[in-house]
Amino acid sequence: MPNAHIVVVGGGIAGAMTALHLQRRGEQVTLIDRWEPGHSRAASTDYNRVIRAISGRDEFYTRWARDSRQRWLELQAESGQNLMYECGALILATEGHCDWEDGTTDTFDKVGVPYYRYSRADIQSRFPQFRVPDIAYALFEPQAGLLMAHRCVITTISLFKAAGGVVERGRMTTDASERPRLDGKPVEADVIIVAPGAWMADLFPRTIKPISNVLGINVLYTSTPDGSDAFDMANMPCWIDHGQGSFGIPSSEGSGVKAAVVIPNTPIDLDNDERLIERQSMNRTRSYIKHRLPGLVGERVVDSKFNQVILTPDTHFIVDYHPEHENVLLVGGCSGHLFKHAPVFGDFVAGVAMRDYGTADRFKIAGRRKLSPKESPSGR
Ligand SMILES: Cc1cc2nc3c(=O)[nH]c(=O)nc-3n(C[C@H](O)[C@H](O)[C@H](O)COP(=O)(O)OP(=O)(O)OC[C@H]3O[C@@H](n4cnc5c(N)ncnc54)[C@H](O)[C@@H]3O)c2cc1C
Repeated sequence: MPNAHIVVVGGGIAGAMTALHLQRRGEQVTLIDRWEPGHSRAASTDYNRVIRAISGRDEFYTRWARDSRQRWLELQAESGQNLMYECGALILATEGHCDWEDGTTDTFDKVGVPYYRYSRADIQSRFPQFRVPDIAYALFEPQAGLLMAHRCVITTISLFKAAGGVVERGRMTTDASERPRLDGKPVEADVIIVAPGAWMADLFPRTIKPISNVLGINVLYTSTPDGSDAFDMANMPCWIDHGQGSFGIPSSEGSGVKAAVVIPNTPIDLDNDERLIERQSMNRTRSYIKHRLPGLVGERVVDSKFNQVILTPDTHFIVDYHPEHENVLLVGGCSGHLFKHAPVFGDFVAGVAMRDYGTADRFKIAGRRKLSPKESPSGR
């Protein structure tokens, strides 16, 4: 298919990275979004996202994350933008619930990911920001870190445009057969790649809605203590705290400390909700901070984000052709972990779009099932 005309719908990190890869392969790509790429409703837009190879027993995502790390570093060198900071990531294994962390250790040994295993005393001496009486041990992945998410999206879009790609504003809809339409007409292109994030469920009510769940997530940024740099990324890693249903990112470029406490089943109206966080979330975050990060007690919330994830039953992404439209490729299924993988994901999707190979079994729309916490890459 030389010089195929490709439409990519959705300018979040999944669509933008796919568009960049295809444009660089010499295709003619138009990227369409309802709003300006980088807008605040998109899941990809926030100060930062964690990049880590830590994925329990799942070797596939462990390898993808390692490969993506390398590619983010290359994009950083090419663009001259600060996209990634290698502050490391710490997983805290709660006493009596260490399956996922034990699995990660085995996978790291197999794949060759550098890590350290810390006892409770080690954690306290290396990272005194954390109070860990309930923690059995921690794994520290030194080459993990954070991606400056908004900047990553904007930089990807800039590279795409510099390669000759076109960005347009528009709202895709679907007809009764779920065929994509723009301005009331069927979308015309050799391949139509639809990467609309959580909006995919409503756009494809028969194909995607039954295998997805869209949830809101409140994220708060808490001020670092006046006059102290202990909670800056220079001195503190990202962390994952499954036992407390939490994860977090140290202050990066002045963001404040992101301590995210996931409140399950928070509903969200993607188009109509004001993106303001709830009082319940403030209270939950404050009690988490009191438990785990006592040095932040009394500090003020300085920023917040109310955003969404689309979860598949097995938390695997979606990269598959629509069952009834052979040139419509559905792409995304975030499941809370797509951002870090975006450079490899976009490259992979480009190959599927150009029929270099078929998709991976795990990314097929059909045959989804809920995984046990032991099998799941997220450990939940
Ligand atoms: C709070 C939170 C924390 C997270 N933490 C991490 C993390 O630490 N590490 C990690 O790897 N991942 C993380 N994730 C997941 C990651 O952010 C997402 O998986 C990723 O950003 C999804 O990108 P996307 O491009 O699929 O969707 P989006 O970024 O939502 O982009 C979809 C785009 O499609 C556009 N669109 C939608 N419908 C249409 C339409 N009809 N017509 C035209 N355009 C349309 C939208 O406007 C939007 O710009 C987190 C997510 C959240 C919410």
